[in-house]
Amino acid sequence: MGRVGTWEAWQPDPRNPKQEVAMLVDVSECIGCKACEVACKHWNQNEARIEGFTGSYQSHSNLDAKTWTLIKFTEYEDPESGDIRWLFQKHNCMHCTEAGCVTACPTNALQYGDYGVVTLDQDACIGCAYCEQACPFDAIHVDRTAWDQKAQKAGKCTLCYDRISNGLQPACVKTCPTDCIKYGDRQALIEWGRKRVEELKARGFKNANLYGEHELGGLHELYVLTEPPEVYGLPVNPRVDWKVKAWKYAVQPIGKAVMGAALFGMAINWLAARRAFASAGARAGQGDSGHEGE
Ligand code: SF4
Ligand code: SF4
Repeated sequence: MGRVGTWEAWQPDPRNPKQEVAMLVDVSECIGCKACEVACKHWNQNEARIEGFTGSYQSHSNLDAKTWTLIKFTEYEDPESGDIRWLFQKHNCMHCTEAGCVTACPTNALQYGDYGVVTLDQDACIGCAYCEQACPFDAIHVDRTAWDQKAQKAGKCTLCYDRISNGLQPACVKTCPTDCIKYGDRQALIEWGRKRVEELKARGFKNANLYGEHELGGLHELYVLTEPPEVYGLPVNPRVDWKVKAWKYAVQPIGKAVMGAALFGMAINWLAARRAFASAGARAGQGDSGHEGE
């Protein structure tokens, strides 16, 4: 099948925001060069973070509020041949169809946007970090290094929404020297990914699989993997925790109802007090005028 060049010119239909776009990472073609990390930092003006040596060629130990895409290195020992291989996986927000972060966010800073992108409005973010707890992929983080607490905002991959909504490719896709990150219509990428899996199997990668087609209602970051997902640290059956759903669909509405009832009670109290005050004033006025008349 080889390289696919046809995605280069692709752009979503601006008249159809319901169209689902996606990125597909074919890990079998990734060389771990980290050009995508640099392009992401450059386009989004996220400063570099210097970390000490952690015993890995990975540039950062994890994603953080200013590091939105990361090539994860896994040293993998093939159980059959005993060969050691390096596996690379581009890690970032998966733009889930059922996103734990969107469910958890109390201020609606996280929302489902056009083209299947999960958007983050940093102005509405209060830095509570509920999204961090709710994300099954550990893909969103709050900046705890900001000196001002009000500047402690969440950060994550935006799928370059500012670029794709203007007909451009995501920055990481544009820069990848091996074209292993593909961007396009989600369904077309799924079909391409299925064929690629079959091709890899025929070449001896018997564990090749497509990840992201069904997980959490469908991810907008898809992977062609050569080994099972857990080898890369990807959850096999990711779920939004029931406690997060309970918080959103039971605790929050009850809290709002209680708050509404309390405000309603206060308003009634205030009106009753005002009325009592007014009638007391009127009675006092009548008393005064009666006295004057005597
Ligand atoms: S990967 Fe995490 S941060 Fe991204 S949409 Fe899914 S739940 Fe939200
Ligand atoms: S940290 Fe921000 S984005 Fe995350 S849940 Fe809290 S308000 Fe929402």
